[in-house]
Amino acid sequence: MEISTPVNRIPRVGSAYARRLERLGIKTIEDLIYHFPFRYEDLSKFEAVSEVREGEVVTIQGEIWQIRNTKTKNGKFLTLATINDGTGTIQAVWFNQPYLTRNLKNGQRATFAGKVDNFNHLITLVNPEYEVTRENGRPGIHTGRLVPIYPETTKVSSKWLRSRIKPLLDIFAHRFPDPLPAEVLKNKNLLDLTTSLTQIHFPDNLTLAKRARERLSFEELFLIQLNVLKRKTEWRRFQSGNAFQIHREKIEAFLNNLPFRLTQAQNRCLEEIFKDLQKAEPMNRLLEGDVGSGKTLVAAGAAYAAYLNGFQTAFMAPTEVLAEQHFKTLTELLSSLGVRVGLQTGSRKWKESFDILVGTHALLSVSTQFENLGLTIIDEQHRFGVEQRAKLRQKGKTPHILTMTATPIPRTMALTLYGDLDLSILDEMPPGRIKIKTYVVPREKRNGAYDFIKKKTQEGQQAFIICPLIEPSETLSSVRSARKEFERLQSEVLPESKLGLLHGRLKPKEKEEVLTKFRNKSFDILVATPVVEVGIDIPNATVMMIESADRFGLAQLHQLRGRVGRGQQESYCLLFLDNYSPSSFKRLKVMEKHHLGVELAEIDLQTRGPGEIYGTLQHGVPSLKIASLADAKLVIETRTLAEKIVLEDETLQRYPGLKQRLSEKSPLHISPN
Ligand code: ADP
Ligand code: MG
Repeated sequence: MEISTPVNRIPRVGSAYARRLERLGIKTIEDLIYHFPFRYEDLSKFEAVSEVREGEVVTIQGEIWQIRNTKTKNGKFLTLATINDGTGTIQAVWFNQPYLTRNLKNGQRATFAGKVDNFNHLITLVNPEYEVTRENGRPGIHTGRLVPIYPETTKVSSKWLRSRIKPLLDIFAHRFPDPLPAEVLKNKNLLDLTTSLTQIHFPDNLTLAKRARERLSFEELFLIQLNVLKRKTEWRRFQSGNAFQIHREKIEAFLNNLPFRLTQAQNRCLEEIFKDLQKAEPMNRLLEGDVGSGKTLVAAGAAYAAYLNGFQTAFMAPTEVLAEQHFKTLTELLSSLGVRVGLQTGSRKWKESFDILVGTHALLSVSTQFENLGLTIIDEQHRFGVEQRAKLRQKGKTPHILTMTATPIPRTMALTLYGDLDLSILDEMPPGRIKIKTYVVPREKRNGAYDFIKKKTQEGQQAFIICPLIEPSETLSSVRSARKEFERLQSEVLPESKLGLLHGRLKPKEKEEVLTKFRNKSFDILVATPVVEVGIDIPNATVMMIESADRFGLAQLHQLRGRVGRGQQESYCLLFLDNYSPSSFKRLKVMEKHHLGVELAEIDLQTRGPGEIYGTLQHGVPSLKIASLADAKLVIETRTLAEKIVLEDETLQRYPGLKQRLSEKSPLHISPN
């Protein structure tokens, strides 16, 4: 057997268990050994039987004086044992496990752990865990020690896992080569891999368990960081780009001509971009900022810089509608400066020559149209894969790439998820933006909220009502419940209003129809499922009502909230809860005061862990076995070390263990959505 051997070939596992283990993501011996406990039960202290009291959970060690099977009146099996530890005798009872008498015999010494109760007027251990004491007197695996408790699944209990993992550890723990260099172990005071694997499952004490966990978390994040940094250096090394000059005066003139001044954040991000553009190695930067934070303007500045160097820009939007919006904005901003802006969509082909071509991702397939592509701007959505980047290359040169996103990702998390990109964050809104008035609405004010919506729509404004979240992805049952909610609202709550319904199972054309009708004010209120991307601009919509808000992360709520407040009118976000617990109420109250996506994402990360943020991402997420992306300190520590190592020794010649480990498998398992 090897560490890569499939679990069905492990003795006492077999194919039925292999299938169950697969539900836990376990396929090989290695996976099983890397299935770590999330806590331990302390069964290490033996209690004297004479001291044991009813109601306690105890571990005792003693001799089995007598053990026998019997039957209850209604025919069930009972196993009764009498155990003596020298201080006293206690009864033990098990239900429906007659086979126990094959394992436990009169005169044997064993350990028992379980709850003490009154049974037939005798003080009794009920259904205790048991373990025959080994001849060498060493602690067992289920009792008499810190006992690991694992993530379980049907018919795969912690006890089962312990008994399978222990013998594997005895054989394999020392066979995992330690990828961490000895100097790192020493400098960071980390346990070696073999010790860590043994101690995380069967720790001698809690300090060692903690140190094992630290070491394994360190390794996990460190390998991810090394991997992204390697990608980043390869991008640098194998791609060559065009170094631009920054024509300061012309750019200042452009910026000074705007009807407003750039925010400090916009200035900073633009400078970060200009710095990249001046290098011969192509830029690969992510610009992160809330809707309305002014990303398009920053992008326009970059495109203008490219134009001044005689280079073309490809500007890609996720939808045709957005492409048209960008086309309009860029034309307004730049055409008076002589920049020719073109639009290419499915329905509209640009024939003449251009300096900036706006379109959807279909632009990629026509990149041959570019005579001199110098910059690619990608607005939102899916990450640009390596192959796609390769398609952009022209005459051996790769254009600079700027990706923009409104998805709020905390900086430390971006470092890991997008570690191969450089990051600029617009963490400031242009002045004068009206904040969306946000209220967590108590249960008894629900009707008041509907009245409010009625009033606003009667004044000619529009509203979104986001349906209760049934399941995180849009299944038929959530569509059905959205339809039900829609009908309830229409017939019982808002019979005088015109309601539209939007859900993810509609065909693109049907969606477009519903949205057009909403935009034309054929509907006052759009009832929508939460997973539907209402990424469009409806300036007249001023109320966003969200059901089941307690089931969302704050950053996700913030994104939904951003669908209103796009016009000049005062806008509102009303949050309703599924379960009005004080802690949920308090958590959501944060939405009333905070209005920046990155801030809310950071709060999510600290209070609820990275899972919340994953929910806002459009693409796959890494599955970390042990480390947490919320551990900012560890993320930064591993990042710093990885940077140092890659800087000194890019090809990892001096670190064969690391090199080997990185080539075996990508430590960052990205699962496609
Ligand atoms: P984003 O792309 O980040 O959603 P936009 O670039 O579309 O944001 O900007 C939103 C609106 O704010 C636009 O109307 C834009 O003209 C305006 N805007 C951008 N920057 C500023 C600024 N510094 N001051 C005032 N308004 C700005
Ligand atoms: Mg935008």
